[in-house]
Amino acid sequence: MEFRDLKSQYNRYKSEIDQAVQDVMTKGTFIGGGPVADLEMELSRYVGTKHAITCANGTEAMTLALMAWGIGEGDAVFVPDFTFFSTGEVVAYSGATPIFVDVEEDTFNMDPKKLELAIQNAIKEGKLKPRVIIPVDLFGLPADHPAIEKIAKKHQMLILEDGAQGFGGNIDGKKACSFGDAATTSFFPAKPLGCYGDGGAIFTDDDHLAKLLQSLKVHGKGENKYDNVRIGLNSRLDTMQAAILKVKLKAFENHELEDVNRAYCNYNDMLGDWVKTPKIPKGYYSSFAQYTIILKDKSERDHLQKKLKDEGIPTMIYYIKPMHKQEAFEGNAFEENDFEVTNTLCDRVLSLPMHPYLTEGDIHKVCTNIIKILKEARSN
Ligand SMILES: *Cc1c(COP(=O)(O)O)cnc(C)c1O
Repeated sequence: MEFRDLKSQYNRYKSEIDQAVQDVMTKGTFIGGGPVADLEMELSRYVGTKHAITCANGTEAMTLALMAWGIGEGDAVFVPDFTFFSTGEVVAYSGATPIFVDVEEDTFNMDPKKLELAIQNAIKEGKLKPRVIIPVDLFGLPADHPAIEKIAKKHQMLILEDGAQGFGGNIDGKKACSFGDAATTSFFPAKPLGCYGDGGAIFTDDDHLAKLLQSLKVHGKGENKYDNVRIGLNSRLDTMQAAILKVKLKAFENHELEDVNRAYCNYNDMLGDWVKTPKIPKGYYSSFAQYTIILKDKSERDHLQKKLKDEGIPTMIYYIKPMHKQEAFEGNAFEENDFEVTNTLCDRVLSLPMHPYLTEGDIHKVCTNIIKILKEARSN
């Protein structure tokens, strides 16, 4: 069994993917060209934003947005404490200061009440200017964007939605990657919509921002890339990756999103009495980048992971360390009490195999093993 089975997906779409790659090679255009332009159109149609701008990866997508907004030294950017490193990394890279915010145990996402408190604290201290909030759609579930948007408006701050794991989710039909002033996603192979290498995109309705991003991602180009009007990056999505993504977006829309949601229901049915299973709030839809359960404590979690491994069942711990405990951020002063939920989640979470090609047999095997292991451990 695989944690995320990319081979089954390739086998099912082999002829279309091979043809798409072959067409790029025959044509001989490897940067830009038709597939990139087509993909950007399809992405903006799917997400429902005016613009979709592809780039090299999900990390640079966020960096480009922060560059475009002129975020830097003296600015405070609010990021969940429970996320992949990248979300905080891009803030520090821009020269701004990341302020980590605890999450809600039920959704794994940024807690709007604690966000409000963190912003008020920063204002009271007066050293940094609160500029941006980066809500993450963790494990595929959109963050509480309605509440966060109110807070941003109140404090006149910008929102950058980190939809690296959220692509495909929605709140009352409004798609992930369409919230905030701009949103980003990643096409890293294991993400809900993945390519065969690195890739990313930025989404926005803002024409001015879109134009700036088009320039920043190609060396700050003006009229063309030999006319450079600002300092930028080289951050493009390869033509071949775009061609592959066009095929995979169809599969994603046709059945993959429904397939992971069916797997989620099957898992929840079998595991609900034994562990804390993910609950999707009313009106929300998740793209299930991960299916993550919560155990009683660290020793139960670690024991379960080890025993599952012995049975050939792969699991992952997303995430084992809160952002505020990462060595890279050790220069910043933190109040441990501010991260109560994240601290316990890191000890108790376990992500199970999750992807559209998981069979009912696979799910049954994972669940019966979990129940057997927990029953035994808990009776001791
Ligand atoms: C994967 C990920 C990123 C970064 O995407 P890359 O394409 O790997 O650079 C950013 N944020 C979150 C939450 C992610 O999971």
